[in-house]
Amino acid sequence: MNAVASGPRSSRQKSVLFCTECSFENPVSEGWLVVSDGDERTIVCPECGHVADHRTERSAPATKCAD
Ligand SMILES: [Zn+2]
Repeated sequence: MNAVASGPRSSRQKSVLFCTECSFENPVSEGWLVVSDGDERTIVCPECGHVADHRTERSAPATKCAD
C-alpha cells in the first residue's frame, strides 16, 4: 500500500503519517521523530527507524496552491 500522500480534500483530517515498515501511525506532529537539518526535514519512525518522509525546502518558496 502506498502512504497517504494526496487525496481528495473533502475529508481532511489531521495529516496522519503511516510507517510502511511497522504500521506505526500517528499525526506528523505527534510521535514521529522530526529531524531538521538546514533546509532538510526528515521524519523518522520512532518504532523502527524507517524514514517515512524526507523533504528539502531549498529553492521551494512557501507557495502552496492551497486555495
Ligand atoms: Zn516504523
